[in-house]
Amino acid sequence: MLEHYTEAFVLGNKTSKEMDAQIVLYTRDFGKVAAKAKSARKMTSKLNGHLQPLNFVSARLIEKSAGGQRFQIVDALTIDDKQALNKNPENAQKFLNIAEFINEMTFEAHQDLRLWQAIKKIFSPVGESLEEKIIYRGLLKILGFDPEHGSCATCGNSQINYFSKTEHIFFCGKCAGKIGDNQLLLI
Ligand SMILES: [Zn+2]
Repeated sequence: MLEHYTEAFVLGNKTSKEMDAQIVLYTRDFGKVAAKAKSARKMTSKLNGHLQPLNFVSARLIEKSAGGQRFQIVDALTIDDKQALNKNPENAQKFLNIAEFINEMTFEAHQDLRLWQAIKKIFSPVGESLEEKIIYRGLLKILGFDPEHGSCATCGNSQINYFSKTEHIFFCGKCAGKIGDNQLLLI
């Protein structure tokens, strides 16, 4: 069993009926990590409060070498408490959508410091407005789908406006309208 300390951003928190909560973190040191937090639910105790989506935390993880889930969160302390939300409460859902997108588009245990830096920048804005399309285009580039070099998967148009989260391909506005896929992201 190994113990790690890492900075992390909380992408998601599913508190189940059992006592263990399933937390998805994007960590500086390990990339995305799905971990359980024991007894998070009965916490009036502090841990679950720190493990809320969009929080930056300093996390202590236990890594098991074999059997069951690899990581467990044993401690977490908020570094930056929903900075983005506090500055722009009306943007809460937009920030949650971006966090969900990062969760959907990443694999576990792939460290990516460029993505980590992008996450820090996106979710700790200093008062600037949330330009969603610019954020998504920047994230796609980091994730290896550079919109600058993309073209519509149907007609080849280099003017692209949508990205398919399921197929990982781009579409122009015209062709996207014909598909009507709700997995399409406006970029
Ligand atoms: Zn097209």
